[in-house]
Amino acid sequence: MTASPGKKTNYSSLPNSFNDDIQKQKYINKKQSQSSDGAWWINGLFVIVVHIVSLLSFLSYTADRKTWIMTFLICQLAMLGITVGYHRLWSHRAYEAEYPLRVVLGLLGTLGFQGSIKWWVLRHRLHHRWTDTEHDPYSAAKGFWFSHMGWIFKKPHYPRMKLIDASDLNADPVVVFQHKHYVPLALGCGFVVPTLVGALWGDALGGFLYGGILSRAIIWHSTFCINSFAHWAGEQLYSNEVSARGNLLLAIMTHGEGYHNFHHEFPKDFRNGYRLFDWDPSKWIIFTLHTLTNQVPKVSRVPENEVRKAMINMELIKAQEERQKCDWGVDPSSLPVMTYMQYKQKQEQEGKEWILVDEFVLDVSSFKEDHPGGAKILKNYYGIDSTKAFHGGLNDHSKAANTMTAMFRVAKIEKNQKEE
Ligand SMILES: [Zn+2]
Ligand SMILES: [Zn+2]
Repeated sequence: MTASPGKKTNYSSLPNSFNDDIQKQKYINKKQSQSSDGAWWINGLFVIVVHIVSLLSFLSYTADRKTWIMTFLICQLAMLGITVGYHRLWSHRAYEAEYPLRVVLGLLGTLGFQGSIKWWVLRHRLHHRWTDTEHDPYSAAKGFWFSHMGWIFKKPHYPRMKLIDASDLNADPVVVFQHKHYVPLALGCGFVVPTLVGALWGDALGGFLYGGILSRAIIWHSTFCINSFAHWAGEQLYSNEVSARGNLLLAIMTHGEGYHNFHHEFPKDFRNGYRLFDWDPSKWIIFTLHTLTNQVPKVSRVPENEVRKAMINMELIKAQEERQKCDWGVDPSSLPVMTYMQYKQKQEQEGKEWILVDEFVLDVSSFKEDHPGGAKILKNYYGIDSTKAFHGGLNDHSKAANTMTAMFRVAKIEKNQKEE
């Protein structure tokens, strides 16, 4: 998310021999795939230089206290520009914003130095539409490093970008203007302004190194963590269809974007932290603007009922996974089948400690001493049908006792063979 708006490939020099659209498209695809094989040196080099200068500045330059405060504020404001603006407003249209608010959010987002709104949003829409696949620009399936920042170093190739709707972006004058003038705007907001502000208290160099360079690295990694950590560690309360997860620590780092599992399941919702006390300052800001000003005329919320269903489905999936970890006894279909008379004869002739409950022959030899009613009662039912006694004739056994009988099954009685 650090690149400037992508340059369009010039295909005006296509060979004349192309006489139909299919051949032309094949040629374009081939060219694109060839150009995407290599390293993205300019982008990668810029990112590396920012990291090196950040580290050296931190280790060797003592900035003014005001410069530190400015750097902190830049990080916070830029992150809000990304979360409230780039992400929830422009990527997902999770709320409506009036022109003045869009200008402010566009400027704050520019401060984040993560590419133009249009550049960022189109790739983010690809990420949502083809999460974890080869068409996901930050696919977690390609490993933690790739999803965090490895993708920055590889020339991108997005064959499905043409399927992403950009009409709303092209219709927004703020987006169009920022895209057209992105480089001077980003350099101005990202480097010139912090330097000039630092100069106000005599620390122009600190303003540049900390407010300009170091803050870039911090803001980048906060956002990168959403593509990496939030697809790697945390809870899946709403869905397990993609790798997205919810993570409080990340939510604190990113003004609420850490609840990524909810967000992937309900991207149109203006909240990422759905629950009342989820740490989601971006949600609170949008809601406050909606409630107290005319700048946010509408916010989108997923119906409560839909969220509840998603949560219950996940609870069922987790319960099923837990269920499979338990030993539920022998599968009835794998049991040998015998007649009631065979059961009686075998018990008598071989002295088996067998009882009969609900069509199943139970070997209680290992259990009789643990029987809450005592071993003697069990012995009274060896070789006969104890179903009625088990289900209330003598004692109406608990659900757990019923479930436990499956652990002692050794045979099944043929239907209609039980002696009444
Ligand atoms: Zn994601
Ligand atoms: Zn999103």
